[in-house]
Amino acid sequence: MGCRQRTAKGDLLRIAVVGDECVADPRGTLPGRGAYLHLDMACYDLAVRRRAFPRAYRSQGPLGTERLRQCVAQAEHIDTTSSTSSTTGK
Ligand SMILES: [Zn+2]
Repeated sequence: MGCRQRTAKGDLLRIAVVGDECVADPRGTLPGRGAYLHLDMACYDLAVRRRAFPRAYRSQGPLGTERLRQCVAQAEHIDTTSSTSSTTGK
């Protein structure tokens, strides 16, 4: 959604909206529209700057993304081994 790079779906994080806030939904259990983002701060940044979240969810107002940012930042730290392999395999 952010960088428009194609990746295997396993590398993508599902994002759902609860109330007016974007939350990470790694298990895909939350109802409603889902948008997908790479587990990557650069991808998250792009999505926020392009206002991709309100567009993806057809939201009238801005959506909170702070909690999502923390999730992505955390996941990026945990997930260093698989992210290096995914950058080489195009
Ligand atoms: Zn991306």
